[in-house]
Amino acid sequence: MSETRQFQAYTKKLLDLMIHSIYAHKDVFVRELISNASDAIDKVRFEALTNPELLEGDGDFKIRLVPNDIDHTLTFSDNGIGMSYDEVIEHIGTIARSGSEQFAERLKTAGGEAGTPDLIGQFGVGFYSAFMVAKKVELWTRKAGSDHSVHWVSQGDGEYTIEKLESGRRGTTITLHLRDKDAPREDDEEDVDEIYNQESYTDTWTLKRIVKKYSDFIAFPVVMDTKKWEKPKDAEGNEIADAETVESTVQETLNTSKALWTRQPASVTKEEYIEFYKHISRDWQEPAETLHFHVEGAQEWTGLLFFPEKAPFDLFSREPRRGLQLYIKRVFIAEDVKELIPDHFRFVKGLVDSADLPLNVSRETVQHDRLVPLIKKRIGNKLLSHCKELLEKDRPRYEKLWEEFGMCIKEGFHYEPAQKDKLAEIVLVKTTTASGWSTLAEVAERKKEGQTALYYLTGDKIEVLQGAPQLEVFKKKGVEVLLLPEAVDEIMVGALSSFDELELKSAARGELDGLPESETKEEKAEKNTTFGPLTERLSKLLGDQVSQVRLSDRLTDSAVCLVADQDGMSGQLERMLQAMGQPVPQQKRILELNPEHSLVLALRDLAERDSGDERLGEYAEMLMDQALLAEGAPLKNPARFAQRVASAMAAAVGH
Ligand code: ADP
Ligand code: MG
Repeated sequence: MSETRQFQAYTKKLLDLMIHSIYAHKDVFVRELISNASDAIDKVRFEALTNPELLEGDGDFKIRLVPNDIDHTLTFSDNGIGMSYDEVIEHIGTIARSGSEQFAERLKTAGGEAGTPDLIGQFGVGFYSAFMVAKKVELWTRKAGSDHSVHWVSQGDGEYTIEKLESGRRGTTITLHLRDKDAPREDDEEDVDEIYNQESYTDTWTLKRIVKKYSDFIAFPVVMDTKKWEKPKDAEGNEIADAETVESTVQETLNTSKALWTRQPASVTKEEYIEFYKHISRDWQEPAETLHFHVEGAQEWTGLLFFPEKAPFDLFSREPRRGLQLYIKRVFIAEDVKELIPDHFRFVKGLVDSADLPLNVSRETVQHDRLVPLIKKRIGNKLLSHCKELLEKDRPRYEKLWEEFGMCIKEGFHYEPAQKDKLAEIVLVKTTTASGWSTLAEVAERKKEGQTALYYLTGDKIEVLQGAPQLEVFKKKGVEVLLLPEAVDEIMVGALSSFDELELKSAARGELDGLPESETKEEKAEKNTTFGPLTERLSKLLGDQVSQVRLSDRLTDSAVCLVADQDGMSGQLERMLQAMGQPVPQQKRILELNPEHSLVLALRDLAERDSGDERLGEYAEMLMDQALLAEGAPLKNPARFAQRVASAMAAAVGH
């Protein structure tokens, strides 16, 4: 009994896009289907380690291509794990399972088709790429150990039909009913040329070329029956020269079928690495960095790691896809093994093949093997030193990498505080005076004479930070300040505490010492007396909002700003913790007044004449709100602030 079902809404949309917009990448459907077949064989081989009966005597793993130029079809079959009825519905009726919502969201905002091939590339569409060349796709599959098989058909038009069949052979067979070259659909006008010029996917030479190009590294043989015309041979194996040539069929293996990572790095070409990366990452873009190494000695294993070009869309979601593939003696064991790689490198794709882990184990016990943390540590170090090397050798490339992944790498200060010095060497920052990225060492190098601290300001946006009143004195004295706009920066400065013997100090916290040419104690004390009545009055008025009101030595242009206690939490950290739903202890900051500012001077005189003046109450609130606004913080009552400004302006223009 067969059943007709609808694809999910975004699957349908994606299918449309595939069929219409990515002609340039057409050949890759071969890679996608072979890639899936290889994964399926990996899985059954792994299951058979503990349950050999699953193989039903067929352990001669193969992926087979059968072109048929009479029916104009191309068939892929494998003796892998196969799929159950429910699995076909779950896996073949759904797209980009891990990120389908984000995917749909991006499709909506992508606007037009210009950016779509790239967009599709970011998600990897796997199985569906078949519809780029097929008008109908048919699939038969039987799950290893199951007593029934499943037949699935779709024309890629939004629905598919599925039915259970009695039995069949283990594994999956997929037949593509190829689009007719001479009958492009009407809406394909612009692409008619391409369709005419396209090679035929039933041509064995074409298929050989594509498999060699995209799937050579697949560890199982990819075979195809090809025809040979030969003269018959005599008893000694020599051709009989005057005999007629006869046709015979031979099964040819199209790929090298040797696990790529077992080869010596020097013997692997860039193209081979690229295709292998695409196979294991499901990314359609090329990797940005490739690291391939064999570890020998006490532990023996091979690592093949890739940095993607672009950060995946789910990098900062709660459950990102992460982890490496684990192989043991070339047998695939598990994917997404997150125990193999430090969390702050979770965007790295790749695999580990170990000779030392026990083969007959479940995924769970492997994860807890004592070797695994050692491998993880080694990988963390490799990646750090690769970053450092790249930073030194190819700065532009490293900056690009940092822009994609810096935010993630900085989490290392949290996950692995012991690595903080190594991390500090590869961190890039923006600052008040440099135009592009700087390393911490470069900023330290540019310190002013007499400067004993490295100053930073954390906050939400670089533009807001640039104009923050807390930075005024630094600008005046020409002292460079690190601008740290990301939440994770708080963790970084907390973990580092100093760099190159310079204490890391917040520009918005505590008293400013460590700056060149500061005021003397006597000068300060004198000022404090003349402003006494004002600061005392304001302290009382704002007592429930700030811990103290005092004179500032960091302001030149603004009237006021808020700073934290030396040991207090910065405004940014406070808001970050609140956003994470963490309880934040009620903490008050210090309101600082600029003793040179005409407004503050006028208020000083007002307080001196009559410290009970009623207007001071209003002004106190307005000063507080100004200080909050300047750091991009929300006001408790913005409407009230606007009213106060309006009446102050009205008074000033004489109404
Ligand atoms: P991906 O490979 O990224 O998971 P695909 O669209 O290529 O996405 O395939 C979707 C899923 O369909 C696979 O994860 C797998 O579960 C299943 N699948 C596809 N092809 C096969 C196959 N030949 N044998 C078994 N399962 C398959
Ligand atoms: Mg796939």
